[in-house]
Amino acid sequence: MKLTCLGSGSAGNCYLLHNETECIVIEAGVPFKEVKKALGFNIRKIIGVVVSHEHGDHAKYLQEYIKVGIPVMAPSMRHVTGVLSAISKPFAVRTFPLVHDVPCTGFLIEHSEIGRLLFATDTEYVRYRFKNLNHIMIECNYSQDLLSKSYHDGLQERIKLTHMELGTCKDFIRENKNKELKTICLMHLSDRTSDEGIFHKEIKELVTCPVYVADKGLEYEL
Ligand SMILES: [Zn+2]
Repeated sequence: MKLTCLGSGSAGNCYLLHNETECIVIEAGVPFKEVKKALGFNIRKIIGVVVSHEHGDHAKYLQEYIKVGIPVMAPSMRHVTGVLSAISKPFAVRTFPLVHDVPCTGFLIEHSEIGRLLFATDTEYVRYRFKNLNHIMIECNYSQDLLSKSYHDGLQERIKLTHMELGTCKDFIRENKNKELKTICLMHLSDRTSDEGIFHKEIKELVTCPVYVADKGLEYEL
């Protein structure tokens, strides 16, 4: 099973979790045609799409999936016609609430090939602990240091209440890491208030597994 990133950040989020015959799309923030292209136009293997919340960079292209009959699971957007509450096997998807300025959910995705993968973005923090995670995909949006240099107080406050700071991300990794952890992917780094090199280094110091930073085009084996 591979993870392919088609976008991460305020310009559009979309990740593909896929093997030869099955794919789950995580977030609908890039045009469907880019997803098709990345899958070699084999869209029959898309089991479903999961979407964390209604903001455009995560949900702008939701209707394109609904229109062609691909199951869409978006627990925070049940008011949208065509949105389902579950996605069928072989993926088992559970959800948990996050802390954002609109209802937002994280996902715990299980599949026999990869074990348990956690996905959480657009959240001030994650209030739960998880056992036996094999893969973690977590927001690492900004550092307090760079934030205070870049924005006025009002905007700083908004970002602090809606996105994850480096230190919070580090706490999450410390509290949820285990011997079976195989990969970590840092997501949704802010253009102005993050530093990819520093963030990668500080997270890598906490674990022995590979740490990736989500950029358009990133692909790795799970
Ligand atoms: Zn958002």
